[in-house]
Amino acid sequence: METVTTGKDVPELNCPRGDGACHFLGEIVELRKTVDALTEMVRTDALTGLFNFRFFTETLALEMERTRRGTQPLSMIVLDIDHFKKFNDQWGHELGNHALVHIATLIKVTVRKLDYPCRFGGEEFVILLPNTDLRQAVNVADRLCEMIATTPLKMEGQYPITITASLGVDQFASSNSESSEAFIHRVDSWLYKAKHNGRNQVAHPELVTAQLNESVTTEEKDALFSFLSDDNQFEG
Ligand code: GH3
Ligand code: MG
Ligand code: MG
Repeated sequence: METVTTGKDVPELNCPRGDGACHFLGEIVELRKTVDALTEMVRTDALTGLFNFRFFTETLALEMERTRRGTQPLSMIVLDIDHFKKFNDQWGHELGNHALVHIATLIKVTVRKLDYPCRFGGEEFVILLPNTDLRQAVNVADRLCEMIATTPLKMEGQYPITITASLGVDQFASSNSESSEAFIHRVDSWLYKAKHNGRNQVAHPELVTAQLNESVTTEEKDALFSFLSDDNQFEG
């Protein structure tokens, strides 16, 4: 059976015998649609529409392997909603579910096309950012943290409810040899730090000059250094 891709989700099928009236074709097209829908379901979190935990673990392993073979780092952001137990206690589980969808929507609009936004489980989310260094990932996390805190949940007949989240960020360099569990644990420890430091914030390793050098272009570096030498001309 020959397959012709038509740009649609389901490729068009041609009967090898050229039998335009082949009555199996319709059935095969339907089966293919079902397989595509099931594939989507297997990797998607039903409530939020983000990738699920299973997809996350598989993608993390693949992206870590790709990073080890390349040069660009892989970054990870772990996000946990603050005091969500209290939210459920005060507003109920159903509104809690709306809050999870609301946060997932904000994550979707903040991340870039090639990032993987996933629901880690419960009220925890994780974002994988391939080819992204720590500084760039911290920028994404900062934007997301602020967007969540400044975009209250609005439901009909309900006052807007402000929600905050805490985020941990770290990167996996191509020279790194740790396991995926160890990488997750490392990022999780930064999330713990953000909680410990008072919540509604992002925690990450210090952004050292080496990382600045990695994330700026030669032109940007030249501009920076000429600016610094200009600065030296000022008398104190
Ligand atoms: P912290 O700021 O330390 O993260 O506090 P927390 O209350 O958010 O954390 P805790 O782990 O104590 O509670 C998590 C809550 O998330 C408890 C649980 O009922 C709620 N939760 C987990 N999954 C779901 C879900 O799918 N729907 C709803 N509505 N609530 C959920
Ligand atoms: Mg949690
Ligand atoms: Mg929480």
